[in-house]
Amino acid sequence: TETLHIIGGGMAGSEAAWQAANMGVNVVIHEMRPKVETFAHRTGHLAEMVCSNSFRSDDDEQNAVGLLHWEMRAANGLIMAMADKHRLPAGGALAVDRDPFAESVTEALTAHPNISVEYDEITELPEDGQWIIATGPLTSAGLGAAIQAETGADALAFFDAIAPIVYAESINMDVAWLQSRYDKGDTEEERKAYLNCPMTYEQYEAFIDALETADKTEFHEGETAGYFDGCLPIEVMAERGRDTLRFGPMKPVGLTNAHDPDNKPYAVVQLRRDNALGTLYNIVGFQTKMKYGAQTEVLRMIPGLEDASFARLGGIHRNTFINSPTLLDNQMRLKSKPHIRFAGQITGVEGYVESAAMGLLAGRLAAAEILGTPMETAPANSAMGALVHHITGGAEAKTFQPMNVNFGLFHPVEGFKGGRRGRKDRYKAYTDRAKIDWQDWLNAQS
Ligand code: FAD
Repeated sequence: TETLHIIGGGMAGSEAAWQAANMGVNVVIHEMRPKVETFAHRTGHLAEMVCSNSFRSDDDEQNAVGLLHWEMRAANGLIMAMADKHRLPAGGALAVDRDPFAESVTEALTAHPNISVEYDEITELPEDGQWIIATGPLTSAGLGAAIQAETGADALAFFDAIAPIVYAESINMDVAWLQSRYDKGDTEEERKAYLNCPMTYEQYEAFIDALETADKTEFHEGETAGYFDGCLPIEVMAERGRDTLRFGPMKPVGLTNAHDPDNKPYAVVQLRRDNALGTLYNIVGFQTKMKYGAQTEVLRMIPGLEDASFARLGGIHRNTFINSPTLLDNQMRLKSKPHIRFAGQITGVEGYVESAAMGLLAGRLAAAEILGTPMETAPANSAMGALVHHITGGAEAKTFQPMNVNFGLFHPVEGFKGGRRGRKDRYKAYTDRAKIDWQDWLNAQS
């Protein structure tokens, strides 16, 4: 049978190799380290954790990332097995002793009879064969250029500038209202594409004060160059002048407060639907470097968002990722070159766990195709499926930014109370349903 080549032996590439090899496919991992270094990796090990040593919550009943842990364990995942082996005490989180963890992953892969590792940088897109590109947020410049040449400049980003994303159900609609600026749009849906939060003069002034004093993360060398046109962090805009935001993303023009039509708001914060399900909204133009604690505090000053829950907070980072909603099919294949799959952070998921998860899926899908027994992608109601369906179709392509796994990506379960009180039961229902569907999917392959 054909060999599977995987570029990048990080979280995603390591898991993809393990899965495919265990299905009986020969795998070559192409890893550029230690020959070529990145600014974040320190060693030559596969699956190095570049920053925190946490795989986040291990709660598989109330937390979507914990559910992803469960699904990967059920699939005999290598990353989870080695994380469990080198687990450090950390309450409900799965923290890991990073160096022994990466060494064990490296050993397990190099000892596998179906896997070999070549330590080389790949700088061209392969013309034939079966490939997975899993080169991560710090994809080398040469390969980045090759991907860009294939996909088009707009379809590959080198930074993310993430505006905070809010769960729709946590927005107070007695204060906020739906309306596009100047009621633009051909359909009723388009005319109500935005959710608006009004501010009085006093509220705006207090908000600007809070932005100025909030705790922020500093930029690293090389993080800002050539990048800021059109996407300045809100706190930087606020520093440029007290009215900058009111004439920028918070301009109140073309909008009438449905709850109070006679009073013109002094400023308006707009949110835009972030997924096809309508469960998530991003705050338009609100990319920010505020620290997470400060962010929730400041954003909850926005009228209508007093009780907001965040599916993800804002941030600005060096991050190479492709526009998966337009480029990939749900098998994670590049539509224009289907012998190439993408996996990991470069597909627009965010985090160690999500990256490993997308590696697990891509490895299995590629191996199944090589073995002549192609299979369906992950079921939509599993955590794995919620994530892959989001990046390959559910997410808005135009505003696509990397995403963590979260319950906002799941199809709703009927029959539960909204709000905080019903949440615990609802999350349990999501995770119960996911486990059944995921196990069924795994069983169908064995
Ligand atoms: P990686 O794990 O980065 O693996 C990609 C591999 O590909 C690397 O080994 C690299 O050397 C190799 N490679 C790149 N280009 C080539 C090439 N052309 N040829 C051959 N090999 C190549 N996530 C968290 O959950 N928690 C954190 O604390 C966290 N901190 C981060 C800090 C930084 C500075 C960055 C950049 C990211 C961070 N992330 C964090 C995000 C992300 O989840 C991790 O980067 C994760 O490791 C991504 O997994 P991956 O497999 O997609 O990429």
